[in-house]
Amino acid sequence: MGKPSGHWLQAIAVTIAMAFGVCGPSVAAGADAPAFQLARLDADPVPARVLSGEFEDRFKPGARKAVIREEADQPRWWRLTATSAVSRAGQPQLVVSSPYLTVIETWRPGEALPVRRALIGQGMDGLHAPRALVVPLPDGLRAGQSLYLRVDGRGASVPMRVAIQPEAEVHRADLVHVAWRSAVLVSLLVLAVLSLGFWIGIRERSYAYLMATLLAQVGYLATMGGELRVWPAAAEVFGTDPRTVRLFALLAIIAGNFFIGSYLELRTRQPRVQRILDGCSLAAAVLLAVTFALGARWVSLVGNVVVLVIAGTVVVATVRAIRQGFSTARLLLLSWLPLAVMVTLRVGELLGGWVNPPWMAHALPAAMAFSGLVVTIGLAEQLQQLRRDRDHASRMASYDALTGASSRPAIEEQLKTAVRDAHRLDRPLSVVFFDIDRFKQINDVHGHRIGDQCLRIIALRTRNRLRTYDQMGRYGGDELVVVLPDTEQHEALGVAENLRSAVNCRPLSMDGVVLEASLSIGVAQLQQGETAEQLLERADAALYASKAAGRDRVSGSTRITGTHKALPTKEVVS
Ligand code: GH3
Ligand code: MG
Repeated sequence: MGKPSGHWLQAIAVTIAMAFGVCGPSVAAGADAPAFQLARLDADPVPARVLSGEFEDRFKPGARKAVIREEADQPRWWRLTATSAVSRAGQPQLVVSSPYLTVIETWRPGEALPVRRALIGQGMDGLHAPRALVVPLPDGLRAGQSLYLRVDGRGASVPMRVAIQPEAEVHRADLVHVAWRSAVLVSLLVLAVLSLGFWIGIRERSYAYLMATLLAQVGYLATMGGELRVWPAAAEVFGTDPRTVRLFALLAIIAGNFFIGSYLELRTRQPRVQRILDGCSLAAAVLLAVTFALGARWVSLVGNVVVLVIAGTVVVATVRAIRQGFSTARLLLLSWLPLAVMVTLRVGELLGGWVNPPWMAHALPAAMAFSGLVVTIGLAEQLQQLRRDRDHASRMASYDALTGASSRPAIEEQLKTAVRDAHRLDRPLSVVFFDIDRFKQINDVHGHRIGDQCLRIIALRTRNRLRTYDQMGRYGGDELVVVLPDTEQHEALGVAENLRSAVNCRPLSMDGVVLEASLSIGVAQLQQGETAEQLLERADAALYASKAAGRDRVSGSTRITGTHKALPTKEVVS
């Protein structure tokens, strides 16, 4: 298989450079050291009791600095206490990143009513990008002052970073987020549309799997990241149900497995790996059913483990495919490695192992878009190779290897086309059909190798006497057909005579053997309404007449009832 061409590699390099360029500012924005402490209350009492200070000593420090993570099905309370004063200058904002389904009610100091924030539905804040829930703190915070947050994770266990940032910084990060997410989502959608086009255009199933994977990824990202809210009706239905994201994730897993199996031809090349992926797809399908039937929490756990198994299996399968000499697997490895790393980091985070740095919010979607782009290039590369193979095969089928003349199916096809054109344009067309005389004898006396060379020389001498647009084909063992467009019978008889003398005028010389050869030739001109087969039959009958009359001569077909141009009814027998 061919190697990716230079400009594609360049495009990949530019994409990676862009990814890091755009990720840069958001890394800086999220890196602030917190000026507060977080503590959690494992209960959901009525707000008045919490605000009255009744539970103050039951709040316990959170597991991680500046990270809220809710695993319980019930809402719980969090307390954010400023460790140093937060000045009101610069309009400080409480920013809780990547909330997904979480709804947070925040009681600011001295206020009886909370500010409710959610990505979708009641509490949606249209002023900010859906990267975070943002609550203004217009009075800032004095050192030691607390905010109380009632956090309802709605069964989605995602870690959320907490920060207090000036409004300008929040807006800057919002702009970067929107630009980056739009680029990623649009890229994925464009690649999905391209895959659809290729699938419809060339019926290559890999493209259907790729399209399904890309669309499921778009669904996953838009639901998880809150972009779905641009479509309020869908957002209300799908955006507030944890099963939607699981549905998209599981669909992406299944479609992705099908894609990889088909791309690497695993069923035939690595059947054991294919069975592992099939097992993972089956597990994902079962989880899909369970998700809808039970909405079980462990679906996420098992689903994430399945993802890790797939990530590892695909790396192994791809490396093995490269070792087997399947060079487009290199592109799959290039596309898969960043995605596998990002997915592993994300799964580790979701399973509670660690909390990823803020740039991961962009890195995972970027890895998806990058992967989609590279495998699309890989598929195009595979297609080009397929086309090259097909062209080569059809070239091999079109030509006779010994004589270099067209093969029998090819010359029959060429003759059919020529006949159609002649009828359509009302132009004459003639056929010359010849057979080497006593060729068996040449074989018997001098051997097959000399016989072969004899055939080759006769074909060469014939070709040299033809016009460029005349066509010559090997019809059978020692029979050749010449198609002469725009040629009436008397002209064709002249050509045939010329061919005959080209062979018998001087002996054939090869490997020290010199031998005489001659041709028996039949000529026929296309009649009105006649088919290619009928024309060839008449030329063959004329050839038979030449043989019967003693060989080494030209005969014209005599049955002339009407041709595309007036022609003399002369028969030449020499
Ligand atoms: P005739 O004058 O009646 O045509 O006699 P002939 O010996 O040429 O008889 P015919 O055309 O029936 O025989 C064709 C022979 O061509 C039979 C076969 O051994 C030989 N032949 C067919 N294909 C090849 C080939 O590719 N190479 C060689 N060396 N011989 C071939
Ligand atoms: Mg013969």
